[in-house]
Amino acid sequence: MRFYSTNSPQIAVSVEEALFHSMPADKGLYMPTPLPQLGRDFFETIAGQSLADIGFSISRELFGNEINIAELEELTHQAFPFDTPVVDLDPGKLGVLELFHGPSLAFKDVGARYMAALMAYFSKRNDKEINILVATSGDTGGAVAMGFHNVPGIRVSILYPSGRVSDLQEKQLTTLGGNVQAFEVDGTFDDCQAIVKQAFVDNELNAQLALSSANSINIFRLIPQGFYYVRAYGQVRNYGKPVVFSTPSGNFGNLSAGVMVQQMGLPVDHFVAATNLNHVVPSYLETGIYAPKPSVATISNAMDVGNPSNFIRLKHLYNDDFHRLKANVSGYFYDDDETRAGMKRINELYHYVACPHTAIGILGLQAYHMASEKDVMGISLATAHPSKFKPLVEAILEKPVDVPERLAVLAERTKQSIQIPAEYYAFKESLLQTVA
Ligand SMILES: *Cc1c(COP(=O)(O)O)cnc(C)c1O
Repeated sequence: MRFYSTNSPQIAVSVEEALFHSMPADKGLYMPTPLPQLGRDFFETIAGQSLADIGFSISRELFGNEINIAELEELTHQAFPFDTPVVDLDPGKLGVLELFHGPSLAFKDVGARYMAALMAYFSKRNDKEINILVATSGDTGGAVAMGFHNVPGIRVSILYPSGRVSDLQEKQLTTLGGNVQAFEVDGTFDDCQAIVKQAFVDNELNAQLALSSANSINIFRLIPQGFYYVRAYGQVRNYGKPVVFSTPSGNFGNLSAGVMVQQMGLPVDHFVAATNLNHVVPSYLETGIYAPKPSVATISNAMDVGNPSNFIRLKHLYNDDFHRLKANVSGYFYDDDETRAGMKRINELYHYVACPHTAIGILGLQAYHMASEKDVMGISLATAHPSKFKPLVEAILEKPVDVPERLAVLAERTKQSIQIPAEYYAFKESLLQTVA
C-alpha cells in the first residue's frame, strides 16, 4: 500500500511516511492506493466476527506487505478490546451502530487507538522517542490521550484551551499521567493549534525531538473507521435488504471512511450525510456549489465545522464527479430545535437515549426512508455516548442519564496540567524541560 497526495497524484509515499507525517509537503491530504478488493466471499464469512477480527482481516489486505502478519494481528486486537454492536430500534428497518464502547466513549477511539498501535509498531524499530503534539477543543484530545497512554516509545503532549472544555473532557486529558502530559493554554483552541503548527516548522526543536501529530487529517485515523461499517454489515446482512448508512458529520472523516470501504467492495446501497446548521456539504449536494463558511455553534458541537477538512477526500473518492457523488450520498441537516425534538421523539418511539450528534444521524435516516421508495435496512452511526453530554441530554429528555463506570471514575481523579500563556516560546521551553 502506498499513499498519494490529493495535490500531487504522482507522488507515492510509504505507510510509515504517511503515518508519521500526517500532511504531505504540498499541503494536500494522503489517500491510499490502490484500494484492495475484498471480494464477495469475504462478506459471507463475517457475521460472527468481532471488530478486532474484521479489522485484522482488512489490515492484512492493506498492510500485509509492510507489517509482519503475526504482529499485525496482535496490534489490531490490542487496538480493539471493545466491540461496535448494531442495536435494533426497528428490526429490519432501523438500527444504531454504537461506536462509543471504547475508553473515551466516542467513535474517535477507533481511529486513535489503531493509529497509536501502528505508531508503536514502527517506533519499536527506531530508538528515538516519538513526541506527539495535539491541539484539542475537547473530544479528539480524550481519544488520543487514552489511545496513546502507556504506548512504549511515544510521549504525548496535548494542548487545550483553559476553561473552554467540559469538566469531564478536561479530566480525560489531565488525569492519565505517565507518557501523557496536558498543557493548559491561557487562550483559545485556535491559539493551541497555532502553537502546534509553529512547533512543526521550528527547525531547532525538530533537530532535538522527533515530532509527530495525531490530528484528524491523518489517513490512519480514517482507515480503521471502515472496519466498523463492515462489522455492522455483518450484523444486518441476514435481513437480505439493501443497506443504507447515515453518518452524523463534521469534518467528514467518518463518511469518507465509509465510502472508502464501499469502494473496497462493501455492499452499501447509499449513504446519508447528516449535519447540524453547519451544512456546507448537504448544500453542496443540493446545488453543486461548495461554499465553506465560518462555523456556527450548535448543541451538537463536535460537528460545528464550516469547512470540512475531508471534503477534498470525498471528492477524490468520486474522481471529482459530482453526479456520481450525488447518486450515492444524500444530505440532510437539522437546527438545534429539530435536534432536541428528535432526541425526544427517538426516546418516546424506541426508548433509546441518543446524544445530539447521534440523533441527527437518525433524523437523516428517517428523512431518507420517507423520501426513498426502497425497502432498505438503515444503520445510523451513534458517534458518542449520551452521558458525555449529560446536563444537556437530561434537560432535553427530563430524566436522568446513566454514566458508565469508566467515565464516572474520572470525576474523582486529580487534574494535572502544565499552565502556559498562549505563546509559542513558553510552550517550547516547558516542552523541552519535560522531555529532557
Ligand atoms: C468528531 C465527531 C463527529 C464528526 O465526525 P467527522 O468524522 O468529523 O465527520 C460526530 N459526532 C461526534 C460525537 C464526534 O466526536
